[in-house]
Amino acid sequence: MSINPSKMLSDKVQAMEESATIRMAQKARDLASKGVNVISLSLGEPDFDTPEFIKDAAYAALKKGNTKYTPVPGSLDLRKAICDKFKTENNLNFEPANIVVSNGAKQSIANICMSVLNEGDEATVLAPYWVSYVEIVKFAGGNSVILNAGIEDDFKVQADQIKTAITPKTKLLIFSSPCNPTGSVYSKDELEAIADVISANGNILVISDEIYEYITFRGTHESIGAFDNMRELTATVNGFSKGFSMTGWRLGYMGGPKWLADACNKVQGQITSGAASFSQEAAAVALRANRNETIAMKDAFLLRRDLIIKALMDVPGFKVNKPEGAFYMFPDVSHYFGTSSGNVTIQNADDFAEAMLTEAHVGTVSGAAFGADNCIRLSYAASESDLIEAVSRIKNVSNILNNH
Ligand code: PMP
Ligand code: GLU
Repeated sequence: MSINPSKMLSDKVQAMEESATIRMAQKARDLASKGVNVISLSLGEPDFDTPEFIKDAAYAALKKGNTKYTPVPGSLDLRKAICDKFKTENNLNFEPANIVVSNGAKQSIANICMSVLNEGDEATVLAPYWVSYVEIVKFAGGNSVILNAGIEDDFKVQADQIKTAITPKTKLLIFSSPCNPTGSVYSKDELEAIADVISANGNILVISDEIYEYITFRGTHESIGAFDNMRELTATVNGFSKGFSMTGWRLGYMGGPKWLADACNKVQGQITSGAASFSQEAAAVALRANRNETIAMKDAFLLRRDLIIKALMDVPGFKVNKPEGAFYMFPDVSHYFGTSSGNVTIQNADDFAEAMLTEAHVGTVSGAAFGADNCIRLSYAASESDLIEAVSRIKNVSNILNNH
């Protein structure tokens, strides 16, 4: 006897898409394990090691025996450090009771969605969006209402679009700025216009995903929760993965109204408990230190952005935007839809990303997973030589597609 998985697995899990970023990264690894020289620009992960002083703080925490459960919402010391960071860097006023530390910002977003969404509630998601928002909303029982902005609008949805999309069922607005996958950054004026729409309604919570805060190339980072009319209506999500290159440490956090922090605490207390104790101690050290290493990584990303923009603009048919943050390029490749190389035929962005992997041996992610099916995403968190080689391979295959 064996179990029939489709009868056993829940409808929710069967309806869930696998994360496209993780799938494409795995495909690139699989190809590399067969001896193919693959350049993977699929996973959004800084290629720098975690700064040494943060690792030292984790070793010290382990050595002195900080190896036990912490309070579910995070150690008091880390939550105090997060409150200080929110105050000085984001003009957000929180007490430790407003903060919940989780196993990555991904869990923070899941906690919030599970805390507020009932079956059939709506979450307005600004597209292009990060892959997991829509799947998390669906898993929590909600429906995503996707609002699109194309490359001609620098991929930014305007406040008026949001206003028209709000219904009595709308409970959440979710977006990231700097944005994954586009690198676009909402200006203070654009955020203020969105804040005015949301606060006029008064029944919508904004999940402001600011995990790329430190990778901003122009001006200072703006938090929508800092507008006076948004203080009670915003959950600000952040984490250590990107700014401190700590993806494997699994630490993220949210700051928001106390009722929301209490709910996230309850959800997390039943599902995972507090994040790793020594990770938390090291993270508090990271937050209290200067930002020299974070800024050095940002400066390196900026040089690579300039390098890859120039190279991608040289690929015939690519439409390229100029990202102001994060470490992604999101070219529109729709010029290639309907072309063929003999080996492969391109109907859409999924086919294009697949062809780049199989023909050019460059891992990218189709924009379809981010709600933008004319585009592909490339992470430029890679060495300059890999970036130059990757775009040169993309260009060669694109030329074959163009000329076939
Ligand atoms: N939000 C965005 C926009 C991201 O790109 C990521 C990266 N995976 C996350 C959230 C989650 O980050 P983590 O769980 O590693 O903190
Ligand atoms: N945020 C990264 C990405 O978009 C990591 C992968 C993931 O968590 O989905 O590629």
